[in-house]
Amino acid sequence: MQSQTELIHLQWGDEQLATANPPLWRASTILYQDLAEMEARERAVQTDADVLYYGRKGTPPVFMLQDAITRLEGGHRSLVFPSGLAACTAALMATLKAGDHLLITDSAYGPTRQAAQQLLPRWGVEVTFFAPTLPADALAALFKPNTKLVFLESPGSHTFEVQDIPAIAAVAHARGARVAVDNTWATPLYCQPLQLGADLVIHAATKYIGGHSDATIGTVTANRDAWPDLKRYTWGMGLTAGAEEVYAALRGLRTLATRMAAHDAAGRKVAAWLAARPEVEAVLHPALPQAPGHDLWQRDFSGAASLFAVVFKPVTEERFRAAVDALQLFKLGFSWGGFESLVVPIAPAKYRDCTPWPYSGPAVRLHIGLEAVDDLLADLEQAFVRLQ
Ligand SMILES: *Cc1c(COP(=O)(O)O)cnc(C)c1O
Repeated sequence: MQSQTELIHLQWGDEQLATANPPLWRASTILYQDLAEMEARERAVQTDADVLYYGRKGTPPVFMLQDAITRLEGGHRSLVFPSGLAACTAALMATLKAGDHLLITDSAYGPTRQAAQQLLPRWGVEVTFFAPTLPADALAALFKPNTKLVFLESPGSHTFEVQDIPAIAAVAHARGARVAVDNTWATPLYCQPLQLGADLVIHAATKYIGGHSDATIGTVTANRDAWPDLKRYTWGMGLTAGAEEVYAALRGLRTLATRMAAHDAAGRKVAAWLAARPEVEAVLHPALPQAPGHDLWQRDFSGAASLFAVVFKPVTEERFRAAVDALQLFKLGFSWGGFESLVVPIAPAKYRDCTPWPYSGPAVRLHIGLEAVDDLLADLEQAFVRLQ
């Protein structure tokens, strides 16, 4: 069965209460018939069975979401987190301890970078950023005897370089380090990093999985080797996701394949239109042949998200601001992966440590939503007049 069909036919546990979707399931206390049942469930929880034991350890909708992501990613187990960022930091914190060294891509999501820069050193972890397109053999030279994790985000959510996960995983595993990948851009449908050699995969389900700009939730999926550390950290820190957010993510999964196909087609049309405009210096969209890592994208991904960057030829700040403000359908806002088109100015030169940003003109990141493409192109066209 294809993932698209599997997501439509996800079921939850109870045949007696067979609504198509599980209810919004709130729980802290779970009640047991007797001591024997309490003890049996306690033993079951220790063996990672999906049983109701205590609210924080999961309810049927939580198990349903975790198991769906695990199946799509081809992992061992998944856990849910209160946000995508909490999922990113869980992958870091679960793997690293005092005295360890982290290699992290220079293209990582800003708050993930900040956590690596500002929190990890306080706990005695050394942190080294590396250029996202650094070849794996050059990356190998950055390993130290205490390097325990390589953190990737492919493609990077501002600069869109695709990374060679299999080659990096081979280098890391040969040196006793794990690889974590923030896979939010691709969703579990368009790339499965565990199949490419990664050990941990992160999703900000806030984005395409939720898909409706109304929930903040994250997931981490581990392979068998990384799972005990992930579970120990997550349970120790008491991390889980709220019932409404889990419900929203599950509901989003039902239509994820259909929405992604529409996002992908529209994103490529808008990217091609932009690439042909005289005002545009570069379009950083992995599906365009000139994009950094396009060959890797073609090899490792089965589709493209509709999030990409547009770099303009140098223009006065005043004209650039006027053009951004003139957009009507592209709303100005953070996050992405919802039904609506979004724009945010980006300035990667300000938040990269070791990768030169070759452009001098201003840049934006666009998210192409589910509007009619012609309406979006007309909106861009009228805003572009302000650039002249
Ligand atoms: C948004 C985002 C996150 C963080 O997700 P939140 O749910 O907003 O905390 C992490 N990684 C990437 C690539 C993102 O785009």
